[in-house]
Formats: sequence, C-alpha cells, structure tokens
Amino acid sequence: MTNQPSSNHTNNGCVFCKIIADELPSQKLYQDQSITAFRDINPVATTHILVVPNKHIPSTNELAAEDEQLVGRLFTIARQLAEEEGIEESGYRLIINTGPDAGQEVFHLHLHLIGGRRMGHLP
Ligand code: 5GP
Ligand code: ZN
Repeated sequence: MTNQPSSNHTNNGCVFCKIIADELPSQKLYQDQSITAFRDINPVATTHILVVPNKHIPSTNELAAEDEQLVGRLFTIARQLAEEEGIEESGYRLIINTGPDAGQEVFHLHLHLIGGRRMGHLP
C-alpha cells in the first residue's frame, strides 16, 4: 500500500501493530500517516471494518489530550468508508469496546464500522 505510516509506535506482540506494519496479512482498505482500516477477520455483518490509529494506544482509557485530533480522524475515515461501502443511507454502527465488560479482545484502540444488515438495539 502507498502512504505507509511514517511513525509507527509498534508494540511487540500486538496483532494490530503487525497488520499496520504489513507484518501480518489483512484486507486493508485505507492507510495514511495516522490511521489504518482493514476488514475484520470475523465479520458480524456484510460490512465490518476496523479503523485503528497507527499509534499503539491500548484502549480508550489510555487516551491523552494530544490524541483528540486522532480520535476525530477515526470517525472521519469511518464515515468515508461507510460511503464507499454504500451504507451511509441504510445505516451503520460505530463501536469502541473498552475493557472486560465490553468484551475488548484486542488491546490496540479500534473503531468497529458495522453495517449492511438491520441490527438490534443496544444491549
Ligand atoms: P474487540 O472485541 O477487541 O473490540 O474486537 C477485536 C476485533 O478484532 C474482533 O472483531 C476480531 O474479529 C478482530 N480481529 C482479531 N484478530 C484479528 C486479525 O488478526 N485480523 C483481523 N482483520 N481482525 C482481527
Ligand atoms: Zn498495537
């Protein structure tokens, strides 16, 4: 992919850091200096994309004030991808799981973009 991230604060053993660095295969849809997006390996809907910062931030709990722009950009890229997937009108869900009660499995901050089917309301 072009536009490889310039600074990638990799964390040893982190699966998403490896995907960002192309050390693990993935279906990458987008990458720039600060953000990478790729299809979830175990999709729960027709569209299931993970939008992640290239910087290793374990979860929302570790977000700092300096990350505010980065978090905004996660949403901007998610919106663009929703349009590309043709689900901007049918609708989609953006989810960030944080910690055990939310079932967070990968401790590298990521925004799930899920759409293409009707979903139930919040748990
Ligand atoms: P969490 O529960 O942490 O919010 O979500 C982690 C997500 O990452 C899950 O939906 C899971 O399917 C996805 N995932 C885990 N490992 C990989 C991987 O190696 N490649 C891709 N593309 N997705 C992964
Ligand atoms: Zn990471």
